[in-house]
Amino acid sequence: MTSEPSLKFPPASLPESTDKLRSEVRKFLLKSQTELGWTPRSNFMSTFSAEFSKSIGEMGWLGLTWPKKYGGQEKSALERFVVTEELLAAGAPVAAHWVAERQSGPLLIKYGTEEQREQILPKIAKGECYFSIGMSEPDSGSDLASIRTRAKKSPNNWTINGTKVWTSNAHINHWMILLARTEQPSENRHAGMSQFLIDLKNDDIIINPIPNMLGHHEFNEVVFNETAIPLDRIIGKEGNGWQQVTAELAYERSGPERFLSTYNVLLELINSAKNKNDGEIDRTIGKLTAQLVSLRTMSISIAGMLERGENPDVAAAVVKDTGNEFERQVIELTRKALPLEPTLNGNNIEKYESMMAELIMQLPSFSFRGGTPEIMRGIIARGLGVR
Ligand SMILES: Cc1cc2nc3c(=O)[nH]c(=O)nc-3n(C[C@H](O)[C@H](O)[C@H](O)COP(=O)(O)OP(=O)(O)OC[C@H]3O[C@@H](n4cnc5c(N)ncnc54)[C@H](O)[C@@H]3O)c2cc1C
Repeated sequence: MTSEPSLKFPPASLPESTDKLRSEVRKFLLKSQTELGWTPRSNFMSTFSAEFSKSIGEMGWLGLTWPKKYGGQEKSALERFVVTEELLAAGAPVAAHWVAERQSGPLLIKYGTEEQREQILPKIAKGECYFSIGMSEPDSGSDLASIRTRAKKSPNNWTINGTKVWTSNAHINHWMILLARTEQPSENRHAGMSQFLIDLKNDDIIINPIPNMLGHHEFNEVVFNETAIPLDRIIGKEGNGWQQVTAELAYERSGPERFLSTYNVLLELINSAKNKNDGEIDRTIGKLTAQLVSLRTMSISIAGMLERGENPDVAAAVVKDTGNEFERQVIELTRKALPLEPTLNGNNIEKYESMMAELIMQLPSFSFRGGTPEIMRGIIARGLGVR
């Protein structure tokens, strides 16, 4: 069935006032690197540092767009874009607060109860409270509507049964937002789902590690076996889970983290070209930089849409898909231009060879997390009215 095309990138630019903010963030990050001793990392989900997240919270740069009464600063989405972009470009250790600030907090602002907001949002804004995403299941990733985890309501609580998988950092975060069925599946596959707050430290759940290709523990399997949670842990309206989760995914897919995961490698390539006078390398840099500038322009346009309260889900799918392809090209073209053997080398990640080796092992996951290319292209096709 075709529908009205809804793919658009309305022009938006960063106001001049953001220049001051940008230089403040840069200055802070340089100082923080020396004081906290972190090493720039390419993939934004690579390094979890509660110390760093708290220091960003102290600067007032988490929950920047949120109401002041919840610990926010009531600034614009364009200002948030600048902070986000600088954190990623510096390769700062942002994994602790990232999901909570990007999507869980905004979800609670939109759908949570006043008690939930008051309890949780100020802690996220302080960089002290971290969230996991409880969507994927062993047989339900792309086809999220097929989830089987069930939450059953009784007079005193919700009882949950099922298994979530690929749950990033569930072993160290505080909360998970769980998507579960609250009604039997029906003809309308998107009906009968709801979202819940799961206390990862105190609820009766089992968290099993799933090592990634690097052997690192980031993913988990989270098992619910007759897990009882209080009635007031439901987020939003019972049965409205699909609509809510779709709004959450638009936040997840639209930011500059979808094209800056290999930025450190691009910088290496640019630095290496300085005294070489090599036309091939210069052309590669030109090609990649032009793509980066286009992606950035599209991402700023999405920040503008978020600022106006518009739904950017189709545009976000374009940025996510083309952004992941750009990240892949950065690795491929840089490998050709700087053909040094990638070598996993413990923590010596600043060295080009180890940075490259780590990214090669992580690259396949970049297009999977947040939705695969095929799924993004399906959303784009629908947005263009051809599906
Ligand atoms: C680094 C990383 C972190 C993640 N963190 C989380 C997390 O914290 N919480 C969470 O809930 N999930 C998380 N995920 C899971 C992620 O969202 C899923 O991997 C993703 O949605 C794909 O689901 P799947 O792995 O089940 O693959 P599948 O859905 O089985 O897909 C396998 C392949 O089939 C293709 N395919 C599937 N359906 C279609 C279709 N209809 N048409 C065409 N092709 C199709 C896909 O594109 C893909 O290539 C994470 C994944 C990664 C890689």
